[in-house]
Amino acid sequence: MAQLLVLPVRFIALLCQRQQYALFNETVRVNQSLQEEIKRREHLELELKLQATTDPLTGLFNRRQYESLFQRELDRVRRHASALSLCVVDLDHFKKINDEHGHDVGDQVLKHVSRLFVDTLRNTDIVGRFGGEEFVLLLDNSDLAALHQCVERIRICFAQTCFKSTGNEVYCTLSAGLNLLGPGDSLEKVLNQADLALYRAKHNGRDRCEVYDEAYA
Ligand code: GH3
Ligand code: MG
Ligand code: MG
Repeated sequence: MAQLLVLPVRFIALLCQRQQYALFNETVRVNQSLQEEIKRREHLELELKLQATTDPLTGLFNRRQYESLFQRELDRVRRHASALSLCVVDLDHFKKINDEHGHDVGDQVLKHVSRLFVDTLRNTDIVGRFGGEEFVLLLDNSDLAALHQCVERIRICFAQTCFKSTGNEVYCTLSAGLNLLGPGDSLEKVLNQADLALYRAKHNGRDRCEVYDEAYA
């Protein structure tokens, strides 16, 4: 009688083992697909964040994003009394490049100058596209002399860069207005002052940097 019972018990145990194994496999499969879904969503989230914060042509921060980053930096300057300097850049006679060589060459110039900014500045510096052919740079822990040196390096390098356009050699230059941020300054005020310096650079013949001076006001 006991022997008669052993067979079904073994059979049931084997059946349970198989079911457990199938259940285990199913759990592994569900886990894997959940992990893939999490990765897909993280990637999507990053992509959406990039779209919301950067300019699609140059990859630089868009206006909304760098304004918020500037505000954060300005708060830090107020707390720690550290140096922060700002520069607005505008390409010279850029409309002529578009008109004479086409929009694609213009885009190539915009992408190149953006790369030049990023490659020359430090990771902690902020580079934004103001719109069109205008850019804004914010240098962390830099006084005007350091900013001036850095932007001059970029200006000279850019002026020497040759862009090819169906047999033509295309050159472009940039003008820049520089300003220092103090603890009591608003971003708007500092940008307006840097704009005045930029205007001065254009007025004085372009392809140059000018530092904001109170005498401008
Ligand atoms: P200035 O030296 O006084 O700054 O003259 P400018 O010709 O650079 O200035 P203007 O404001 O007259 O022209 C800017 C041009 O930038 C006009 C516009 O077509 C061009 N532009 C703006 N955004 C883009 C872009 O995304 N791609 C290209 N290729 N051109 C653009
Ligand atoms: Mg402009
Ligand atoms: Mg311009």
